[in-house]
Amino acid sequence: MNQNNNFNAFLDIFEADRYPSNGGALTDMTIAVKDVLALKGARLTCGSKILENFESLYTATSVQRLMNAGARMVGKTNMDEFAMGSSNENSAYGPVKNPWDETRVPGGSSGGSAVAAAIGACDVALGTDTGGSIRQPAAFCGVIGLKPTYGRISRYGLTAFASSFDTVGIFSRSLENTARALEVMAGFDEMDSTSARVPVPKYSDALVRDVSGLAIGIPHEYFGDGIESEVRKAVEEAKIKLQNAGCTIVDVSLPHSKYCVAVYYILTTAEASSNLARFDGIRYGRRAKSERGTATLEETYRRSRTEGLGREVKRRIMLGTYVLSAGYYDAYYSRAQKVRWLIAEDFDHAFERCDALLTPTTPTTAFKLGEKVSDPLAMYLNDIFTVSANIAGVPAISIPVGLDSRGLPIGAQLITRSFDEETLFALSKEILVTMPYGRIGQC
Ligand code: GLN
Repeated sequence: MNQNNNFNAFLDIFEADRYPSNGGALTDMTIAVKDVLALKGARLTCGSKILENFESLYTATSVQRLMNAGARMVGKTNMDEFAMGSSNENSAYGPVKNPWDETRVPGGSSGGSAVAAAIGACDVALGTDTGGSIRQPAAFCGVIGLKPTYGRISRYGLTAFASSFDTVGIFSRSLENTARALEVMAGFDEMDSTSARVPVPKYSDALVRDVSGLAIGIPHEYFGDGIESEVRKAVEEAKIKLQNAGCTIVDVSLPHSKYCVAVYYILTTAEASSNLARFDGIRYGRRAKSERGTATLEETYRRSRTEGLGREVKRRIMLGTYVLSAGYYDAYYSRAQKVRWLIAEDFDHAFERCDALLTPTTPTTAFKLGEKVSDPLAMYLNDIFTVSANIAGVPAISIPVGLDSRGLPIGAQLITRSFDEETLFALSKEILVTMPYGRIGQC
């Protein structure tokens, strides 16, 4: 296994005997864990300076279930601070590099996990997806990236960003390993009241399921201007493969799509401003030093947060505090909540006419390091096709469907009804294009 860290994918690499396998169905499986999920005894930085010395006191349910099944933990992966970002450039521990072209971003926020899976440093990497943080880096790095239905996998032990959007999910080169890991992690957990009491099917069985007769919806809002022609072409080819496999193609509309990015950034910053209040240097996190111990409580909070948190996290806390403040709450937060349900209804209506939606995962392939750092809006717009699945809570997957002329991977996104991950798997196997990992694996 290649555990080379030239790409800065790992924040910690464990010795082989640190988290050994105790036997079970996943004995052969190695796992890298995004550093936003708790693993007892390991550091949990969330990509932030404020948690640089924080050690987990317990293990996330998702991670624990994999360990109980015998999977071996290989390390913790780099990420955008508190999972806020689309390029991994918001990590306090330096950016991750895209292994297909080191001058480019791997995507974010789970960039380290995407790279760990792409370079073969693990069989499965865990990530989290609040608005695309699994699917977008999966697309940029040429691996499979699954965001399950909200509530499918317990969030216990996941450091919350936007609790009503956050999901734990999977990166892998292989659909089989994705299905096997999901089977083990999914299901109700009494430690997370939002985890669903829905039976867990044998997802690997769906990988041999016939897809003929399924209807695939093509939402025209996801094929407008701004999509690179090679991305469009690769997604078209995936559509033809599904047609050849016996699927019917239907045109559908998700009419409220144009509000998705705005709704996402209002609601998630609101939730984040509340969730991140605990990182104040007193309850959690690195405390700013006070001269001769004279700082007041408020000064301690202010200095600890000023020193410990990065620019993007501060920007979001301020935005979120603003949209929740008296006088603006109705204009922003409560309106965005209403539009959230209109967007969810768009999906319900679309799924009356089809079984799955096919879209590009991102409008472009991986962009250059530094290209968008000074333009937050351009960075946010990269999430245009991924945030909707989190707004509605439905499952979605990014599948590698080709390379562009620069040799950069292209991802196609499939979205299904809540708790229908099986259809995602069945369709994914029809469109997956095996990436030439040998090209990057030796680095
Ligand atoms: N890129 C999005 C953001 O910056 C998504 C993040 C995520 O899914 N954690 O919020």
